[in-house]
Amino acid sequence: MRQLLFILSVCLFWVNHAAAQTYPAYDELYVNDFAFFLSVEEEDTIRAKLAELRQERGIEFTVVTIDSMFSYGHNGPIEPFATGLFNFWGVGDADRNDGVMLLVALNDRVMRIEVGSGYGSSKNTKMKNIIDTTITPRFKAGDYYGGINEGVDRVIRDLTGSWPGEYNATGPERALNASRRLMDRLGDWIYAILAPVFGGLFLLFRRWKRNRPRRCPNDHSKMERINEDVDDDYLKSGQITEEQIGSVDYDVWQCMRCDHRTIEAYKSWFSRHRACRSCGFQTLESDSTILTSATTTSTGLKRVDYNCRHCDDSWSVERVIPKVSKSSSSSGGSSFGGGSSSGGGASGSW
Ligand SMILES: [Zn+2]
Ligand SMILES: [Zn+2]
Repeated sequence: MRQLLFILSVCLFWVNHAAAQTYPAYDELYVNDFAFFLSVEEEDTIRAKLAELRQERGIEFTVVTIDSMFSYGHNGPIEPFATGLFNFWGVGDADRNDGVMLLVALNDRVMRIEVGSGYGSSKNTKMKNIIDTTITPRFKAGDYYGGINEGVDRVIRDLTGSWPGEYNATGPERALNASRRLMDRLGDWIYAILAPVFGGLFLLFRRWKRNRPRRCPNDHSKMERINEDVDDDYLKSGQITEEQIGSVDYDVWQCMRCDHRTIEAYKSWFSRHRACRSCGFQTLESDSTILTSATTTSTGLKRVDYNCRHCDDSWSVERVIPKVSKSSSSSGGSSFGGGSSSGGGASGSW
């Protein structure tokens, strides 16, 4: 009896332990940006490609971003978490098991392309290649949207043999698009080679400009930059919020003789915050929710929610989602098909 109790308590411990791990519920089938780093427009671009893939080929491919796996009670590598989330949502057709999930854990700096069990391990090398050559370099440069968007294109191309928007294209159309892509790629290469050189020079110039000594306009004596920790005393509360959320960085320069002060703003390049309509600070966040999905016969509707982190002004607007262009047979619905994964795919970090 005592032994039985012991075994029972061990089981209970494991049940409890397992319960500590949770998964987010999905808001929609295509883009779940739980880490909130994509703009509404960027989400729309990616969503359109994933919706088209589902309509044209019946393949469910979903993009998920989270801040960290720890927020869901997970410690350790991304693989079991990705497989767990994939199966929790049931991505892909239940018979074909052909779903795909691109999962990005922003603060963990890891990502994974998880594929349904129907692919076995046949996609592992391909997905690894897409992560290493397309997504990782862009992530390293801070271009998260570019990495996800181009990565999605290449995964779709690998799964279907077609690029997004080309499922029903004619031969000449494909050829034209192919040459365009070649030019883009050529541009990418030139950019990849030249950007580090010019980018480096540009950054040096910017740093020099930001740090160079300043003279007071009143008495021409040397000004000093006030330490970041104490410069909040001289900033408006909206500017402090901007610094906290990383959209703008401020330097405060002060004349030691006459107390003349100048405040200089440095906008972050990769901030998703926009200017607020009420307070004007770069503290506005946006997120969108699909109210009605667009079909081939009717337009859809989405709600965009704006919220200011500084003045707390918040408002919503509704926007029409254009009709989905041609499609053979669309299977509407707003839930996944019940597919599962046995751990196939590839991971990467940046
Ligand atoms: Zn002065
Ligand atoms: Zn505001």
